[in-house]
Amino acid sequence: RWFGFREVDPRTKAPMVRQVFDSVATNYDLMNDLMSGGIHRLWKSDLIELIRPRPGMTLLDVAGGTGDISFRFLEAAGGPAQAFVCDINEKMILVGRDRAVDRGVLSGVDWIVGDAETLPLKSRSVDVYTIAFGLRNVTRIDAALAEARRVLRPGGRFFCLEFSRVVLPVLRDVYDRYSFTVLPRLGQMVAGDREAYQYLVESIRQFPDQRSLVGRIEAAGFGQVRYRNLTGGIAAIHSGWRL
Ligand code: SAM
Repeated sequence: RWFGFREVDPRTKAPMVRQVFDSVATNYDLMNDLMSGGIHRLWKSDLIELIRPRPGMTLLDVAGGTGDISFRFLEAAGGPAQAFVCDINEKMILVGRDRAVDRGVLSGVDWIVGDAETLPLKSRSVDVYTIAFGLRNVTRIDAALAEARRVLRPGGRFFCLEFSRVVLPVLRDVYDRYSFTVLPRLGQMVAGDREAYQYLVESIRQFPDQRSLVGRIEAAGFGQVRYRNLTGGIAAIHSGWRL
């Protein structure tokens, strides 16, 4: 059952996504913890485990926001490695850069303002591409997937961590109620922006389910595409090889 579900219009999606992340940037990390009860941290750890970072690797973290995936990647690499955080929203990038300074991460990470659909990177230039809670915000998913393939070196890997379809019926009901009642209220209380969190719920609802996304990633030319459900399918990690 869906409460007050409204379609996101693709023609107005990009300016709306911009406005949403402009509005939440300064509270983004706090809200992430509050809304997910900290679970997003476990999901990000799962992603890093799958990537198995090593010294010398180059990561491109698209829709990288405030840098979570890149910081974790560099820490796990256990030696010099390179991360590019690319996000369309400058405010998110600026918050990320401040966080990097606070953490003492002064080298190994570069911050780029850019669109997932037209990445400002050379073809075949990175070993790993990640997009965490980003693909559902992109207007043309297939254009973003084609760009992912273009920038990856042959033998490189693609990873997408994103909200997905809950596979356990009992959990589905609880999750729906939480999404349409608690979440927007939390958004109102902490970020003063109910609409932004309403958008979050709607964008999750409209995003392709696990199997459909496998099909889209395969259609973009990736090999051995698979997924792993996290917390009963609330989120999933999709991966594929750039052949
Ligand atoms: N990856 C981070 C994380 O996991 O905490 C941030 C995720 S945040 C929910 C989504 C991010 O996607 C926002 O920072 C937003 O600006 C960015 N974004 C939206 N559309 C984008 C696009 N077309 N290209 C690049 N980034 C985009």
